[in-house]
Amino acid sequence: MTNNNIYFIANWKMFGSVKLVNSLNNVISYSKKNKHKAKIVYCPPYTLLKSFVDKTKNSNIEIGAQDCHINSDYGPYTGAISSKMIKDLGAKFVIIGHSETRKENDNKKINLKIKSALNKKLNVIFCIGEKLIDKKKNKTKFVLKKQLLEGLKNLNKLNKVIIAYEPVWSIGTGIVPTENNLIKNVKFIKDTLKRSKKFSMSKVLYGGSVNQKNIKNLMRIDNIDGFLIGGASTNEKIFIDIMKKSII
Ligand code: PEP
Repeated sequence: MTNNNIYFIANWKMFGSVKLVNSLNNVISYSKKNKHKAKIVYCPPYTLLKSFVDKTKNSNIEIGAQDCHINSDYGPYTGAISSKMIKDLGAKFVIIGHSETRKENDNKKINLKIKSALNKKLNVIFCIGEKLIDKKKNKTKFVLKKQLLEGLKNLNKLNKVIIAYEPVWSIGTGIVPTENNLIKNVKFIKDTLKRSKKFSMSKVLYGGSVNQKNIKNLMRIDNIDGFLIGGASTNEKIFIDIMKKSII
């Protein structure tokens, strides 16, 4: 894998406090001198978006939210956050369709969310991935194709959409797919995108238990364009270690 322009997207899920914003200091200085020009994006909870945007102002680190509402503007939706509000804070990315949010989001709703984010010119990190039961029943390709085609239905501005392939059975479990399995599934995703023409340039990332021990092996898979990292990204030393070890 060439190590230029590889994405390292940190999904902090429901972690973090205002105090922890200072833990970005080392990552900011690493990003300023990093040799492989990794593209670093932090996705903290909504409550920390503004602090992260301010903290990373003079760096090349970008900030993203972890979800958004289907309505892109303002509206009577208690507790919800729209892409307009995310954009207003200075964030440039949003994760949509993460498996931890899919109970409340079917493919149709995910499609509306992607449209709302693109409407506000946010970059979308669109997560797809099969459950263990799908894998056992040999339904991985069927599930991935359905999630892709329904999630991206009637869209054409796909240069702002990054796909994150995250097998649900890999997230937070310490289990990473075999090299063959990953190569095959990422190729399948890229081929499916190519067939629909509009999306042929989309980047495909891998997510699921990425850490400082498995990154070197994962970097050998040359059709992956980067990583979505949960748990390991909340520890700055480990996150930097992952990026350092990705230089091959
Ligand atoms: C994720 O939440 O997207 C993720 C990949 O988590 P983890 O790295 O902890 O498996």
